[in-house]
Amino acid sequence: MSRSAHPAGPRHADVLPEGHYSAPPADLNALDPKVWAETVDRAADGVVTVGGIPVTRLAEEFGTPAYVLDEADFRARARAWRTAFGADADVFYAGKAFLSRAVVRWLHEEGLNLDVCSGVELATALSAGMPADRIAFHGNNKSAEEITKAVESGVGRIVLDSFQEIARVAHIASSLGKRQRVQIRITVGVEAHTHEFIATAHEDQKFGIPLAGGQAAEAVRRALQLDGLELIGIHSHIGSQIFDMSGFEVAAHRVVGLLRDVRDEHGVELPEIDLGGGLGIAYTSDDDPREPHEIAKALTEIVTRECEAAKLRTPRISVEPGRAIVGPTAFTLYEVGTIKPLDGLRTYVSVDGGMSDNIRTALYDAEYSVALVSRVSDAEPMLVRVVGKHCESGDIVVKDAFLPADLAPGDLIAVPATGAYCRSMASNYNHVLRPPVVAVKDGEARVIVRRETEEDLLRLDVG
Ligand SMILES: *Cc1c(COP(=O)(O)O)cnc(C)c1O
Repeated sequence: MSRSAHPAGPRHADVLPEGHYSAPPADLNALDPKVWAETVDRAADGVVTVGGIPVTRLAEEFGTPAYVLDEADFRARARAWRTAFGADADVFYAGKAFLSRAVVRWLHEEGLNLDVCSGVELATALSAGMPADRIAFHGNNKSAEEITKAVESGVGRIVLDSFQEIARVAHIASSLGKRQRVQIRITVGVEAHTHEFIATAHEDQKFGIPLAGGQAAEAVRRALQLDGLELIGIHSHIGSQIFDMSGFEVAAHRVVGLLRDVRDEHGVELPEIDLGGGLGIAYTSDDDPREPHEIAKALTEIVTRECEAAKLRTPRISVEPGRAIVGPTAFTLYEVGTIKPLDGLRTYVSVDGGMSDNIRTALYDAEYSVALVSRVSDAEPMLVRVVGKHCESGDIVVKDAFLPADLAPGDLIAVPATGAYCRSMASNYNHVLRPPVVAVKDGEARVIVRRETEEDLLRLDVG
């Protein structure tokens, strides 16, 4: 991160304030393909297009803010994961990243499976025609009602997260006269985030059953004894926005170690291993994510090698990418409302959304980029902070970025890589209405999740 370069221009002090920004990009009008969806382009008139449609037209037709999702890009990424892992592995899209019926249909058509972690996520998946046996049900506190629904509908697997749940799912399955396929989620003492992983003491979290102290082995023992359960494998999910494969290496080593112990103790070779999701994407030009085929090759090699060493048949591998599929496929389109230059600091650019449509910056200190998309500009770069309209000073969408100094109210700006964990985590803070998701493909745009209305919100208020 360089703080040496700084933009010229009357709005700026000579020294830039503290921040995590790089130098301004050489060309503010350029769109880095690393962070923008596949079909995003800038037309000859300077307006950015996606799926062949100018964003100005999208704003007119659907309003702002809006999440704009590139369907071709979504399908291509889903397919790339599917192809990379091949027929001997399963790819489960993590629905919590972003779930809607259209997305479920695309996943179904592209041959992916689906992770859900609530009863309503499950209902969404089933209502859009995802076969139940291609659905995995996750969560650390599934209700009896949710478990019953999952077992009755015939989900392919329930991922067990605690000793109580082992007993609970077994009981519910037995009382329905069923044998439920399950995996046990374990914590392997590895936590990975972005560029690093930590391999000590990260069993201190709510998910999973610790490998340490023999707890995971005990969970397997119990699950194997219960008639209502068919234990098909072990599950491990080590973190999110990961670039470094070494965390997976340690996790796979430890999971395979458990599979070996299970074989030695019970004479059973569990047929599946799930390594979770968490693969990173580019939010800014500084991020360098790996391609699905590289990830598939690395994970398959690690598991195969570990199993050979343990003299185990290589289990069927599954992975659960959420962000890596949907994240890069969408951007949020905003209209600029006010512009407030603070001398010697930065310029605050307020948009018509904010932390209600993207909580990640406030929640995780996440980094994003931003571009002027309704026109080109040859003005100097100005250091901006893009903020929302909420009554909260932490209401920041993009902490530090550069936009042209001639930015004006009414301009459209867009924040790329907002496909994951933005609409799915959106709130109604300040009774702001949640934006629509507009899918674009081959010159056509359609709403797949409509904008919330005042009536939607008032209907809930029955006092
Ligand atoms: C969140 C989650 C995922 C998906 O994580 P991404 O970072 O979106 O890939 C996969 N599996 C489990 C169990 C999760 O909790």
